[in-house]
Amino acid sequence: MFQTTLDKQVSFSGVGLHSGSYITVTVKPSFPDTGIQFVRTDVDDCEPTKVSPFAVYSTQLATSIKCGKASISTIEHLTSALYGLGIDNAVVEVNSAEIPILDGSAAPFVDILSEAGIRHLHKKRKYLKFKKRIRVEWGERWVEVIPSRFLKFTCHIDFENKMIDEQKAFFNVTPETFKKEIAKARTFGFKNEIESLWQMGLAKGGSLENAVVVDESGVLNAEGLRYEDEFVRHKMLDLIGDVSLIGYRFFGHVRAYKAGHQLNNMFARALLESSDYYTVVELDGEYEKKGYQGLVLEPQGIV
Ligand SMILES: [Zn+2]
Repeated sequence: MFQTTLDKQVSFSGVGLHSGSYITVTVKPSFPDTGIQFVRTDVDDCEPTKVSPFAVYSTQLATSIKCGKASISTIEHLTSALYGLGIDNAVVEVNSAEIPILDGSAAPFVDILSEAGIRHLHKKRKYLKFKKRIRVEWGERWVEVIPSRFLKFTCHIDFENKMIDEQKAFFNVTPETFKKEIAKARTFGFKNEIESLWQMGLAKGGSLENAVVVDESGVLNAEGLRYEDEFVRHKMLDLIGDVSLIGYRFFGHVRAYKAGHQLNNMFARALLESSDYYTVVELDGEYEKKGYQGLVLEPQGIV
């Protein structure tokens, strides 16, 4: 029920998916109620900016936020890992315009953040407790949240490509299930689409080392898939990362049909704009008695 941050700062480096350049990121502990903040260290006058769905300026191929006059792209796998592990407050410093893609999943971020350790702070978390359904539709695609005593996600995808086809995944999201069932799912793309991105000078850092690549005949990665339904699990990883920008833990069941970054962002904005549909609560004994389970971790030493 208490807010968290990292126990110590951690750094890592890797290639940017879109620029192909080598990038270094440092994630630092932070104070209660400051949330997840991003800052560019290679740009003058760039103040740490708290993530928000309203700071998102592009959802093409990745989720990108404005950070002062600068921007930072491909934040979603890192924000997913922070949320999945239950880290509420941290400052992410990056010396380039995107977060490294690493292996295309959230697993390396989980390993690095876990190495830093999680510290509990002397301030209670605020949770959104939904009273009614909030739903955003875009053609046949939709994302909604319905009231629940838990933090749950269901994702449903349906691709024409028969290698992916129709897949559905459902999880109660806790740090344990996030690490085991979601974090390892890699981003994916179609061979012909990746070739045209390369021709446009995009996805320069993309390779079989950081994405699952499919064509009509199957998966091109020699090692195969990490989960039988890795595609839908990655969509859930993205959805968690995009919804986490609201800056709150919540009690609700998020369900998504054929969603992507753009719809995820429309949904996250709609959540914050629908304050009649939820109450903001702090978790105390009364809620615990009723069986509410959010991302509640055992305090490892309150500071
Ligand atoms: Zn992704």
